[in-house]
Amino acid sequence: MTAVLELLDVRRTYPGSPPVESVRGVTLTVHSGELVAVVGPSGSGKTTLLNLAAGLDRPTSGSVRVAGEPLERLGERRLAGLRAHRLGVVFQQFFLLDHATALDNVADGLLYRGVPARRRRAAAAQTLERVGLAHRLGHRTRLLSGGERQRVAIARALVGRPAVLFADEPTGNLDSAAGASILTLLRELNAAGTTIVVITHDAQVAAATDRRVFVRDGRIEHDTAGPSGAVRGLMGHAAGVVPDGGAGRGTASGDRAARAGERGR
Ligand code: ADP
Ligand code: MG
Repeated sequence: MTAVLELLDVRRTYPGSPPVESVRGVTLTVHSGELVAVVGPSGSGKTTLLNLAAGLDRPTSGSVRVAGEPLERLGERRLAGLRAHRLGVVFQQFFLLDHATALDNVADGLLYRGVPARRRRAAAAQTLERVGLAHRLGHRTRLLSGGERQRVAIARALVGRPAVLFADEPTGNLDSAAGASILTLLRELNAAGTTIVVITHDAQVAAATDRRVFVRDGRIEHDTAGPSGAVRGLMGHAAGVVPDGGAGRGTASGDRAARAGERGR
């Protein structure tokens, strides 16, 4: 098992009087191939944690490593490069260009990687197909449904084949049917090999994942895989240590993803 993301005693304090201690000492390891839910109430620090893990913000103290690389050692340029090559983020507010087509929005996901325009568009088309939007390539995202816009945002984050895909409340703005199908999509992408960290305050979404990290007041309250994140493939087992390679990926969880669609918000 390869650790793709490691947080070591990460803290983030926003200055002010009094200062806001948004993240207060989080240690977390995510391994290649995992689907992890970070769960917690509003204001518990989930988005701050995502920003730190995705290299969009820097911790006040502690270390974040992506594929073994400590981000605090990187200057802004190299950090931007690492983000572009290794990390994909689906933001809570999508940040799509409303008047651009789905294809152009997704192709933009490769802008900072020096990929020529034609190849960007080809990769974008292929990725939109993967997320079930082959029939919407030329549509302006403004005209798409909420669920479709979420798929475009996922495709944009995915097009560069990131080592980790982060999604912040990906079902938060969707009705339950659209939310359930996004959850199914995330499960499919994960089954195909994408490491995913999904942030949610919806326990039903979390129930559809193999590992849950519960956050409260900027701290990890409980991690179903234990503090080192050693368990993978033992769905639902909150046990301690598992030998390397014990990585059978459950398939029954697709059903759970579908059932999670029945959640009420
Ligand atoms: P969540 O995503 O779990 O709702 P956030 O990470 O957005 O939580 O926020 C955690 C805490 O940090 C909240 O108290 C929030 O008000 C505070 N916070 C978030 N961003 C900032 C900021 N840029 N400046 C000051 N305080 C912030
Ligand atoms: Mg948030």
